[in-house]
Amino acid sequence: MRHHIYETHYLDWISSPIMKILISDRLSQQGIELLQQENGWQVDVKTSLTPAQLLEVIGNYDALLVRSNTQVTAEVLQAAKSLRVIGRAGTGIDNINLEAATNKGIVVMNTPGGNSVSVAELALGLMLAMARSVPQASASTKEGKWDKKDFTGVELKDKTLGVAGFGKIGMEVAKRARAFQMNVVVYDPYVSDRLAQDLNVKLVSLDELFAKSDVITLHVPLVEATRHLVNATSIAKMKDGVRIINTARGELIHEADLAAALDSGKVAAAAVDVLSLEPPAAENPLPKHPKVIVTPHIAASTAEAQEVVGVEIAEQVRGFLKDGIIRNAVNFPSVSFEEYKKIGPFLQLGENLGGFVSQICDGHLSEVGIRYYGETVDINTHLIASSILVGILKPVLGDGINLINARKHLDERGILLIESQSSRVRSYSNLISVRLKTDLCEEWIEGTILSQGKSRLVSVDGIDIEAPLHGAILFIRNNDTPGVIGQIGTLLGSNHVNIANFALGRGESNQAVGVVNVDSQIPESLLREIRSCPSIRFARVVQL
Ligand code: NAD
Repeated sequence: MRHHIYETHYLDWISSPIMKILISDRLSQQGIELLQQENGWQVDVKTSLTPAQLLEVIGNYDALLVRSNTQVTAEVLQAAKSLRVIGRAGTGIDNINLEAATNKGIVVMNTPGGNSVSVAELALGLMLAMARSVPQASASTKEGKWDKKDFTGVELKDKTLGVAGFGKIGMEVAKRARAFQMNVVVYDPYVSDRLAQDLNVKLVSLDELFAKSDVITLHVPLVEATRHLVNATSIAKMKDGVRIINTARGELIHEADLAAALDSGKVAAAAVDVLSLEPPAAENPLPKHPKVIVTPHIAASTAEAQEVVGVEIAEQVRGFLKDGIIRNAVNFPSVSFEEYKKIGPFLQLGENLGGFVSQICDGHLSEVGIRYYGETVDINTHLIASSILVGILKPVLGDGINLINARKHLDERGILLIESQSSRVRSYSNLISVRLKTDLCEEWIEGTILSQGKSRLVSVDGIDIEAPLHGAILFIRNNDTPGVIGQIGTLLGSNHVNIANFALGRGESNQAVGVVNVDSQIPESLLREIRSCPSIRFARVVQL
């Protein structure tokens, strides 16, 4: 989901000239100024808010920019009534409750790669410092001692470095370690053998990495699978005298287990830039341990990295608030700008098809079926499906539903989504079929995009019809008898409702459907009159 751009028509609020932005962690001045330059935008830099103060003020803001200090909890998100985007200047997003943000349809963006070199360089610095006990030797000399014999180190040349997590930072570390003539083994379940070969490193299992490495460096994200990756059990699998570096997240290490292994000599030394609680609790055994080098989460704190990520996140947030462009979102599927140009009309069609079918269908929804025909199979159907779900759920759940959270809402309600593609040739070059199943009924409709980019409804209940798919619509099911158009026309006309388009479709066994696009709302009293016509079996107003 990286380096992709998405622009959407769904973001109606974009036209709003006033945006309120809260920057709650330190951000580069250039990044702040970039947002301040926007006319009418209110940019508040409040970097020392307590969690309670954040809760109090967050309700006012459209955007929140953070680094790793601010904890964007579910509670904060609950209070964030207007929030649309969270920008994280940096990579790790474990200080943001991603699930709660996604549920609320809030885009979460980060700046992948902006600080990779800085983090990698600190990891290398810590490795050298550990191999030669640089901080300890320096401290001892500053105390007036000259203890050469206590500080015999080891060379890195020909030693094996185990890199756990071969993403942007892991790769930068590996490249630099090769320059020290180290052998590099890598564990990352999501990396191919080919990539490893290209970078001259060996892909191994986690156990192999533990068994072979003289130095282990952690570059995995903090997720359930990586929490306490280094613990008593994994340490037992490591070489005696192993050295461990952590510049990723404190929780990757079981700190008490590591302290015990340092005491026993199983682990020769450790260097940590991150701790499970920052600043550390007094009882954390690592910071004061003589064999540990500790730094206060400074891996990404270089002038270059802070400038890069600060400006990048400000540009991304500005692009989103101004134009609806989504770049580097971690909770949104990727789609290139070119792809978007192609897909845009289908997203509109999808939302309108979903909206139409859900408004003519009663009962508790249990299943949504979507089938793609023709050109649609070659474009991003994941997004089209999400747009259809937005259309289906919006009438029930309101404006909080968007492309980001629609699937989650469907899943949470236990509603099944079945998608399929068909090579069957149909009369249209592109066609999307949407079927809803509830405890009371099953409805299906089909739509297409015409060559001029306009959405058309082309079938309801298997009956061919051709009607524009927007605005206010009167949908009827009627007996195929003479006079229906006249009756409906007279009723609408005498109530001053102008007809923009009247489409009728005839099925088998005297069944017909009608789709009447109208220019104004149809009041309930008029709808009752329409329903009372003898040939009308069903009438419903649909608003798209
Ligand atoms: P990245 O997403 O590019 O790389 C993470 C890699 O870990 C990916 O290749 C992924 O496939 C791999 N991975 C995921 N789950 C794994 C597992 N269970 N086992 C092994 N590998 C797994 O991220 P990155 O930019 O390289 O950053 C890595 C981590 O470093 C971030 O998540 C962040 O927590 C940390 N970080 C710390 C600082 C700091 O200031 N100390 C700064 C930036 C990043």
